[in-house]
Amino acid sequence: MTPADCVFCRIIDRIEPATIVFEDDTAISFLPLPADRLADGHVLVLPKRHLRDLFEATQADLDATIHAVRRVADSLREALGATGVNILNASGQHSDQSVFHFHFHVVPRWRGDGLRTWPAGTSTHGARGDVAGMIRHHFSQRTTPNDGPTRA
Ligand SMILES: [Zn+2]
Repeated sequence: MTPADCVFCRIIDRIEPATIVFEDDTAISFLPLPADRLADGHVLVLPKRHLRDLFEATQADLDATIHAVRRVADSLREALGATGVNILNASGQHSDQSVFHFHFHVVPRWRGDGLRTWPAGTSTHGARGDVAGMIRHHFSQRTTPNDGPTRA
């Protein structure tokens, strides 16, 4: 997908309308479409630079985007009176990512708001065995962190 095909890039370029609530040099935040909102005040936060997902993000991309997530989360507490937030992201094949421009959902929470944060049940597919050992082995073989596009 090129940025011209990306609805989030079109919002950033003001080609598509959106209700923008925050913007700085590197990140932007706007409301999802009404049918996609989990709560009043649910917002998306994303880097202005087109990245498909977490696996294309550099340290600088992450620093800028998470800093914007924090600023927006503060606004949900201070402006809306939220008592907490959930921060959601989907990245990579089979993660249920629907728009392939890296983004976080920031969902304000209140006592008794009826949202369920954690899905019930457990995954029936994926790695089996000593998963902690496999992850530790990965890190023991790697001398530098990822900082740029990686694809599984
Ligand atoms: Zn994009």
